[in-house]
Amino acid sequence: MEDLGFNSFCKTKESRMPVYDNNQGISRFPEFLKSECKSNLLLGSEKLRWLTPKAFLELDNIVGLVKLVVGNTSAGYYKELENCDTYIDLRYIPELSCIRRDPVGIEIGAAVTISKAICALREAFRIESPSEGAIVYKKIAAHMEKIGTKFVQNTGSIGGNLVMAQREHFPSDIATILLGAGAFVNIRSGTAYETVSLEEFLERPHLDSKSVLSSVKIPLYRKLLFETYRAAPRAHGNALAYVNAAFLAELSSCGSSGGAVLNKCLLAFGAYGKKHAIRAREVEKLLTGRVLTARVLYEAINLVKATVVPEEGTGSEAYRSSVAVGFLFEFLSPLADATIGISRCTLSSKDAEENYEEVFQLHIDYRPVGEPIVTSGAALQASGEAVYADDIPSPENCLHGSFVYSTKPLARVRGIQVNPKSQSNWISGLINYKDIPKGGKNVGSMTIFGSEPLFADDFTQCAGDRLAFLVAGTQKEADVASRLAIVNYDLENLEAPILTVEDAVARSSFFQVPPFLYPKEVGDFSKGMAEADHQIFSAEVKIDSQYYFYMESQTALAVPDEDNCMVVYSSSQCPEYVHATIAQCIGVPEHNVRVITRRVGGGFGGKAIKSMPVATACALAAHVLRQPVRIYVNRKTDMIMAGGRHPMKITYSVGFKSTGKITALKLDILVDAGIYTDISPVIPSNFMAVLRKYDWGALSFDIKVCKTNTVSRSAMRGPGEVQGSYVAEAIIENIASTLSVNADCVRKINLHTHDSLMLFHPDSSGEVPEYTLSLIWEKLAQSSEYSQRREMVSEFNKCNVWKKRGLSCVPIVHELIVRPAPGRVSILRDGSIVVEVGGIELGQGLWTKVKQMTAFALGLIKCDALEVDLLEKVRIIQADTLSLIQGGFTAGSTTSESSCEAVRLCCEILVERLRPLKEKLKTEMGSVQWEMLIQQAHMQVVNLSTSSYSGPDFSSNRYLTYGAAVSEVSSIQVEVNLLTGGTTILRSDILYDCGRSLNPAVDLGQIEGAYVQGIGYFMLEEYTRNSDGLVTSDGTWTYKIPTVDTIPKQFNVEILSSGNHKNRVLSSKACGEPPLLLASSVHCATRAAVRAAREQLQSWGYHDEYGPTFNLEVPAVMPTVKEQCGLDNVETYMKWKMSTHRVEQ
Ligand SMILES: Cc1cc2nc3c(=O)[nH]c(=O)nc-3n(C[C@H](O)[C@H](O)[C@H](O)COP(=O)(O)OP(=O)(O)OC[C@H]3O[C@@H](n4cnc5c(N)ncnc54)[C@H](O)[C@@H]3O)c2cc1C
Repeated sequence: MEDLGFNSFCKTKESRMPVYDNNQGISRFPEFLKSECKSNLLLGSEKLRWLTPKAFLELDNIVGLVKLVVGNTSAGYYKELENCDTYIDLRYIPELSCIRRDPVGIEIGAAVTISKAICALREAFRIESPSEGAIVYKKIAAHMEKIGTKFVQNTGSIGGNLVMAQREHFPSDIATILLGAGAFVNIRSGTAYETVSLEEFLERPHLDSKSVLSSVKIPLYRKLLFETYRAAPRAHGNALAYVNAAFLAELSSCGSSGGAVLNKCLLAFGAYGKKHAIRAREVEKLLTGRVLTARVLYEAINLVKATVVPEEGTGSEAYRSSVAVGFLFEFLSPLADATIGISRCTLSSKDAEENYEEVFQLHIDYRPVGEPIVTSGAALQASGEAVYADDIPSPENCLHGSFVYSTKPLARVRGIQVNPKSQSNWISGLINYKDIPKGGKNVGSMTIFGSEPLFADDFTQCAGDRLAFLVAGTQKEADVASRLAIVNYDLENLEAPILTVEDAVARSSFFQVPPFLYPKEVGDFSKGMAEADHQIFSAEVKIDSQYYFYMESQTALAVPDEDNCMVVYSSSQCPEYVHATIAQCIGVPEHNVRVITRRVGGGFGGKAIKSMPVATACALAAHVLRQPVRIYVNRKTDMIMAGGRHPMKITYSVGFKSTGKITALKLDILVDAGIYTDISPVIPSNFMAVLRKYDWGALSFDIKVCKTNTVSRSAMRGPGEVQGSYVAEAIIENIASTLSVNADCVRKINLHTHDSLMLFHPDSSGEVPEYTLSLIWEKLAQSSEYSQRREMVSEFNKCNVWKKRGLSCVPIVHELIVRPAPGRVSILRDGSIVVEVGGIELGQGLWTKVKQMTAFALGLIKCDALEVDLLEKVRIIQADTLSLIQGGFTAGSTTSESSCEAVRLCCEILVERLRPLKEKLKTEMGSVQWEMLIQQAHMQVVNLSTSSYSGPDFSSNRYLTYGAAVSEVSSIQVEVNLLTGGTTILRSDILYDCGRSLNPAVDLGQIEGAYVQGIGYFMLEEYTRNSDGLVTSDGTWTYKIPTVDTIPKQFNVEILSSGNHKNRVLSSKACGEPPLLLASSVHCATRAAVRAAREQLQSWGYHDEYGPTFNLEVPAVMPTVKEQCGLDNVETYMKWKMSTHRVEQ
């Protein structure tokens, strides 16, 4: 293995872990570890105790600052900064782990895990199911399946959840569903036991630390209706509900009218932003004993709306109340009157199928290039053996750092105090700008546009600005101490910060865009407008940010070396720039610094500029303290400091013919760049390059890159391009709504011809055969059965009141720029090959493609039986900035191909050097094996190592690639979801032009991954900030990335093999970023479904000022979708029904 400096960790000590042997059947937990688990001192400190009482009596004798725990999963929600001195594990007290069932109900011990409770309830349902009331057990179990993840269900307890709900106001599902089921709880206080209803328990003062919740009892009913509901950003897995509910009703039939009478009902609502789940007593009273007519139901839902009212500041308050209304409507409407009930349409039978198809054409001309070989290092990663920067064992005396960041946008920093609660002996240093050594500079990152400081000086410039680097003995200590640090701000006599792009315009606060980067206009806007039949003026689109959410957070390890040198391991997409920044910061020549990056656990642009201050802070601290310093930036800090994608505000005017043909477009674009330049000056050209996917007739624009007092934004996968592509679609949608035509027809009529493509993309349009978009559009229409599905969608929407579908086809034209890249190939004595490239393996398969290229290009020497063997002989090693210089940025999708090209050039040289020898040996011996050739070459002093720097000339370094996606969504509920605004992606079909793919398996993964990340941006991820601009979506509780729940139920991806592209590397085209843009098709399809819902709403007599030109924000999260479909759609519907139909009132 190559030198990571400390990689001896792999096999240094004899491991006591038994070797895994799959022939041995079940692997047992190692004996030696059992004894460690029994220890009372698991928390790594003499002061902390972990006790496991076996009976209540033992528990009574324990005193101190005690925390009772079962799974301790609550620590994931309430991040504990201060430790208790004693933890008491309740799992070994038998009474707390019992499950008892009798004819009147089931009693579940408080320490029983959610998983075990689910099994017990299912079993109880099986046994008791002759009784109709046993459905309660089944429904509760089904609801519990949606809680957290399997890990949370297997570890978290029922009691722990209820105590969190009671004591800490946790938005629990379990409290709501058990409240709806009329459950009771048993409490043990001292030696006394008490049984109270769950409702009373929740309303009581907080359970004191001496009391233990011992069990919960769910009664068994004989005959009733029971249902539970949950509206959450994800159907399954790790998303707390916006609101949940459970309803129980005992019914009888009214003798005279035959209508349903509710003899008894329990209506519980929870998680909506009140202290705890409640019973809607007033609504229950209203309904009990009455015949359920439409009028009664209408009264009941209005009362629910007045009852389920979140506290101010909860967020989406109106939405939550509206969903609560929807839940009750869904529960009761089938009983009230068949004509108002929820329609169930059978057209959806095809939806349930899940299937995935990947299609590509195999090219064998350049084998093994073009083959779908397995990703290099996949087994290492899957087994956990792969070494990332944070896996390198700490060298002796290694310290750990954590950033102290500002929470104010613009303030004088009077001082930073370490909180006395964090123990002072933890802390080794608090490094800030004053610690920059003589000759060094306060620099945290550098780009061609300038640099940004490592630390704020006496003024903080934004919330999230780096103020200091706190160094302690362990990462946990550093994190806790930095979180507790008290920053003394002074706001006196300071100007108000610039927090919006409008403020920036008012105060002329802009970054300069170098003229060579400012995009060029096309045609004459005024003339184009004059030709138009219709004009839209000053329409507005706003689009927000997105966080990178790489699996591996930012990491670095800096180790001081002899003679004032520094070795830094960094999870960076651009080690070369990390290197230069460190050298400048600590004031040493660049040859004193060495930055090593083996692989990065996901970057998406966030490990480029933003990785530099992380590594530089470690290097500075190591330089000052003369000790190794490392960091794994915790997720909260990373989310606050990362900046992410550029938010934008766009105002546009557009002219178009009645046919939908666009004649002119003018845009005023305000880009929120944050406080430092970063790479923001490239955003205008990226935005405009992708917006040019349509023929706009004439195109005019004004783009301002605004400097605001917010964290500086950085490149994120498709920087500026995602926004440009989306804005193009928003304009098309607006035109279609104005003309009342299908948006996809407007798209089609405005696709480029090759002539217009040359006008809009003069530097990259290529030859006529290279323009594949029309082909893609037609092919995809066929393979996705677009026309038939459009008819089906329309039919479906007619048949369904509470569920609507939408279909949309979105194209992309994406410009890519190939940058220079270095490479080195060396052939060792045994014939094995070692390769270095400037590009970093970020999970995008760069190493895999480079390996294939090396095998192909060296294979041209044509030794006997070579092809397959050579692939196995190649090892790509880590980037080392002193070994291979000019590595540049791994960015812009093209680094794989440029790294491949660099390697191809090296191989060409090596083959040239080896050829005479090979010919000679062939003549002498008839056959030449690779190993023999290399041995001979070593003996005959052939230089078997070479490097190169691939740099395409400016005339051919840009090219276009194309793709399109058709997405179909089902939005707005049926059964449960109409009323929630939930969206399901039923199907996506993608066709993407990869040229001749270097590795179709890798490229399919890139296309699918990018698309799903785009779905996150367009549909899920809310990167919110408070009024100071401080990021408040700072963890997985609030920031929801896509999961298996989100990906399309049917997902068909095809790579278009588009033949020869003479200026491309073996005719290949990049695919790392462009497919992300295609995910806007999901947003557009959702918009189509919402439009259908709004048309229906209008037919019920509801009107708003926007009509068909409504704005569906990005991301189209559930509250956004529901709002556009009418927060009071149920009430509107009922009013309309009652007034226009003769329903029973
Ligand atoms: C990632 C994640 C997702 C989640 N999603 C959901 C969700 O969607 N819906 C939902 O309802 N819940 C959700 N939860 C909450 C989860 O159900 C609870 O964290 C879990 O049930 C708590 O059980 P525990 O045994 O881990 O409690 P612990 O963390 O051990 O204890 C929790 C609290 O209760 C106290 N306590 C525990 N047992 C007793 C007792 N018998 N008597 C007195 N006090 C006691 C503890 O002192 C502590 O204050 C989620 C949790 C996580 C971590």
